[in-house]
Amino acid sequence: MKITRSIAEFRAFRESLPEEASVGFVPTMGALHEGHLSLLHAARAGCDDVVLSIFVNPLQFGSNADLALYPRNESADLEAAEREGVDVAFVPSVEEMYPTRRSTTVELGRLSEVAEGESRPGHFTGVATIVAKLLNIVRPTVAFFGQKDAQQVAVVRRMVADLSWPVVIEALPTVREPDGLALSSRNARLSPEERGRATILHRALMAGQAELVSGGDPTSAEKAMLEVAGEEPALDLDYARVLDPDTFEDANAGDSTLLVIAGTIGNTRLIDNVLVDRHKGGDRPGDPDHVRR
Ligand code: AMP
Repeated sequence: MKITRSIAEFRAFRESLPEEASVGFVPTMGALHEGHLSLLHAARAGCDDVVLSIFVNPLQFGSNADLALYPRNESADLEAAEREGVDVAFVPSVEEMYPTRRSTTVELGRLSEVAEGESRPGHFTGVATIVAKLLNIVRPTVAFFGQKDAQQVAVVRRMVADLSWPVVIEALPTVREPDGLALSSRNARLSPEERGRATILHRALMAGQAELVSGGDPTSAEKAMLEVAGEEPALDLDYARVLDPDTFEDANAGDSTLLVIAGTIGNTRLIDNVLVDRHKGGDRPGDPDHVRR
């Protein structure tokens, strides 16, 4: 596996690939877990060359404290990437990606200002800006993202469609612990007791999903989520909503509906979601595709 740290070095590698090679790209902030590995696995299975980026993007963090607390483990990440068959890791520094003289950001308007965007102002501008930069550097055929960050998927798909970029965006299912907790780099910050309590997010989503699948409407599904979430005193709930997965506006009568939840346990902010097809059902807690290997 090749490790590149500068844009010029990465581009030299990219230009050495045959024109017809399909390039699969998995952008991450490192501290790799089985969720990230599932994306690398899909890229390895579907593409000729696999690119992983590891970059903790300061632009998408609201506070310097949160940025400083973000877990980092580059050497273990690079070993895991090697095992997953990654061809090239792009691991730039902050100075490489954001030289002092710069003024361009990517703004998406309302899609980036609702739900997670309302709680974390500027977050999706940071996400869109770094993803735009990375897509321009890597020039992938397919870029792989986790449905775990559903609004990020919507933002990236919108940006790529609006700007007519020639890249396929693949969103893969959320990988979960057997008890339903979605894998996240932030889970490492939970104490053992908080870790036990953190399943509340998934339990609330399952209650909302059950309500929808049995014929309930978005209002009653939100109520079901709030009821379950209210049973866990350690959860400081931010929002529990039923939304359209593409626009993040209130869900309409369409088939595909997204249940999203966010809240803080101790000092750790957690988010989760499930995509529900009201006629076929949604994610199931024990679905082997979604439980870590
Ligand atoms: P991050 O390093 O948190 O920026 O995540 C990098 C990519 O991994 C993003 O596309 C995430 O949505 C995805 N990801 C994070 N957690 C999971 C998970 N539990 N299952 C699947 N994908 C995930």
